[in-house]
Amino acid sequence: MKEQIPTLMAKFLAEESKLGKVSGGRGRPTTPESRARRRVAKELGMSEGAVRAALRRASPPPAIHTFGLEVEQGFLDDLVALRKHISGAVAALETAGKCLEKASAVEGCAPLAVANGHVRRCLEALEGALPAGLCPFCKGIDGYCEHCTHCMGTGWTHQATLDDPDMPERLKAEGEDVLVLGLGSELVSPFEEEG
Ligand SMILES: [Zn+2]
Repeated sequence: MKEQIPTLMAKFLAEESKLGKVSGGRGRPTTPESRARRRVAKELGMSEGAVRAALRRASPPPAIHTFGLEVEQGFLDDLVALRKHISGAVAALETAGKCLEKASAVEGCAPLAVANGHVRRCLEALEGALPAGLCPFCKGIDGYCEHCTHCMGTGWTHQATLDDPDMPERLKAEGEDVLVLGLGSELVSPFEEEG
């Protein structure tokens, strides 16, 4: 039954996404995700919490966001590999944290609590470090990427950047719109004629 969850979720999500945000009870808007999750839970006779947990375990990370641009496969492969390595480090650190927590509960093991603090900080540092897509500023395009002060020439960025509500709309849109830092340190488009 667990295997059905992601498939059902994808099916219901596609249907619910067409409706967008819908007002639920007491004027609270419901998202397509929450409605789809509720339908999966109902269909399989599970709690919504159990569906959410199963989806988290089963869901592969989303595809690298490319703004609809064609990107070299080697570049994408590198990002996927990087994600795999970081996820592996996170899983190992989570295990280490659990062990250290148990160990530091034993009296007289104060140094372990310090070590546990380091592990937690390390996990915090890795949170949001996963590459999620092309850098919205330079789009990883040769000639701009090397000078990009946002991604420092890597051409990619994290999910938090892609989700940043302050990101200019034109940079979120599909296509190769690029903004680079101009001489007066303002963001300028290299594709627009100066006038
Ligand atoms: Zn960049």
